[in-house]
Amino acid sequence: MNKVRPKKSLGQHFLHDQQIARRIVDGLVIENKPMPLLEIGPGMGVLTRYLTGRDEIDLKVAEIDRESIAYLKQHFPLLEGRIIEGDVLEAEWPSVFQGHFAVIGNFPYNISSQIFFKVLENRDRVDQVVCMLQKEVADRLAASHGSKTYGILSVLLQAFFKITYLFKVPPGVFTPPPKVMSAVIRLERNDVERLPCDEVLFFRVVKQAFNTRRKTLRNALKNLNLPAEISGLEIMDKRAEQLSVGEFVSLTLIIEQRRGGAAG
Ligand code: SAH
Repeated sequence: MNKVRPKKSLGQHFLHDQQIARRIVDGLVIENKPMPLLEIGPGMGVLTRYLTGRDEIDLKVAEIDRESIAYLKQHFPLLEGRIIEGDVLEAEWPSVFQGHFAVIGNFPYNISSQIFFKVLENRDRVDQVVCMLQKEVADRLAASHGSKTYGILSVLLQAFFKITYLFKVPPGVFTPPPKVMSAVIRLERNDVERLPCDEVLFFRVVKQAFNTRRKTLRNALKNLNLPAEISGLEIMDKRAEQLSVGEFVSLTLIIEQRRGGAAG
């Protein structure tokens, strides 16, 4: 069977370096065996090769591209009944596995942020993510407060996951080569089961604060209708990128406690 013809619209850049593929797979921390694992976007299976047929891994893959699906079915008979055909963003993640699971993949770069929002939605189930993505995005996710690249996903992901930067990958190991550098990172769920504040409000505060990241929080959070006593606080002179994850939690707590039911 012929190789899959790379489609730009699906973010297809096929890795052809086996050593890197192996290093990505080795990035997984396997604790409870067999570990349920969802691979996103297997393509022609360069990672899948090192994941199927292993006793310690219970693998399922999600792929949207029909041509790749046909290729996988032909080359990886062990995937029988384990291919979720379609858009991984539309899939019901909790029904893929019974309990907790890990995620792996060379992510389609055009939807990597959306995949992370999906990971966040499923944070009670997703214990670990090992993925390759655009280096610039990897840097952003791992950034600390004070950095220009610190943003919504840095705060939200770091609230629930420990992020480890594993290694960089140059464009030349892909067909076709992407225009950007890539990087491999690992996210491991931390032991914060629930934040000490209202989590829905926390997400809103973080998103709202970064929406106009150059404004002070006092201005950025205007449409949350905060009472004057909160707007007057010193922390409100700061900008979103100056606040650590812990400070966002504290701010949410303050809002929650003093806002007294005012709708935002
Ligand atoms: N893992 C392969 C392919 C990486 S390219 C490799 O490393 O070579 C990204 C893969 O994600 C492609 O196979 C593409 O078809 C798939 N993909 C893109 N959008 C997707 C989506 N919304 N849901 C599931 N898979 C998707």
